[in-house]
Amino acid sequence: MLENKKQDRTSLEQLGEFGLIEHLTQHFPLHHESTLTGIGDDAAVLYHKNRTVISTDLLVEGVHFDLSYMPLKHLGYKAVTVNLSDLYAMNAMATQITVSLAVSNRFPLEALEELYAGIAQAAKTFKIDLVGGDTTSSKTGMLISITAIGEAQEQHIVHRSGAKPNDLLVVSGDLGGAYMGLQVLEREKEVFKVNPNSQPDLEPYSYIVERQLKPEARKDIVELLKALEVKPTAMIDISDGLSSEIMHLCKESKVGCNLFEDKIPLDPTVIAACEEFDMDSTLVALSGGEDYELLFTIDHADFPKIKGNPNLSVIGHMADSGEGAHLVTRGNAKIPLTAQGWSSFQAS
Ligand code: ADP
Ligand code: MG
Repeated sequence: MLENKKQDRTSLEQLGEFGLIEHLTQHFPLHHESTLTGIGDDAAVLYHKNRTVISTDLLVEGVHFDLSYMPLKHLGYKAVTVNLSDLYAMNAMATQITVSLAVSNRFPLEALEELYAGIAQAAKTFKIDLVGGDTTSSKTGMLISITAIGEAQEQHIVHRSGAKPNDLLVVSGDLGGAYMGLQVLEREKEVFKVNPNSQPDLEPYSYIVERQLKPEARKDIVELLKALEVKPTAMIDISDGLSSEIMHLCKESKVGCNLFEDKIPLDPTVIAACEEFDMDSTLVALSGGEDYELLFTIDHADFPKIKGNPNLSVIGHMADSGEGAHLVTRGNAKIPLTAQGWSSFQAS
């Protein structure tokens, strides 16, 4: 899994830019009426009957991903899902993407086919249309920029700024898995460097490794909330860690927050990995990042609608802005949250 040992290597020059684009984008069916013109013209033409919602991410090899343990198919999938996650965090539905690529000639066509297979899988899973992009060469590594385009009715859009004191703070899924998966992959990479014949046994870590390599954008949560008739008052996706996302909600909404340590949802495999790596699971959830779960606030009156739902955990409540943002520990101590976790961690 650590190196792509494929024998077939078709150089990119053999195809030329147009042949390459045509080849890579041939298996992308269009799903949406709002896509009037897709790939193949000077620009895509879209017709959204509602508000248009747009988000872009730029991923740089060596900064945002490491191809020594990230299979290209997973990279393609993840590059799409992290973008879609931003649209779902607005309570919007994603409809189109554009994909821009810079690659050095060390990548053969087969590598880009893998990348596009991952993009295609994400496009199918989340029902989105690939409507354009750009392709160019790079001197060294790979760069991928994806733009996600979606739509929502004006009254459904949820900003970071709408939380009120006493609103409940809710998170989907569980936290810390992606970060612990990264720890496992980094460790195996070091082992591989010392002994290239070693075959890592990742089976016990499959959940957390998958959380790192193949995160899922929570479209299902947006649909669930709609079905439950719950409109969050504020929402954000967890890319940088629970703590920093809570700080964003507090800042934009001008409120404080109390987060309860014992309510933070952790998968048993995350707890086990934290023990193995001698890490504090609360700190991992607070500052780990890349879980791509949704963090949102709801009015107290909506609590009965979400109560007991296995996909959702109430982890705290918002407070007056003067109260600040705090973690209430299992021992009932109140510790100020910081973007990196909590303040006692920084001091130590
Ligand atoms: P231009 O010269 O106008 O930039 P290109 O030759 O780069 O046009 O692109 C031709 C078509 O292919 C356009 O529709 C463009 O959006 C699409 N395209 C280019 N690169 C990619 C890519 N990496 N992925 C998807 N579509 C692409
Ligand atoms: Mg172009």
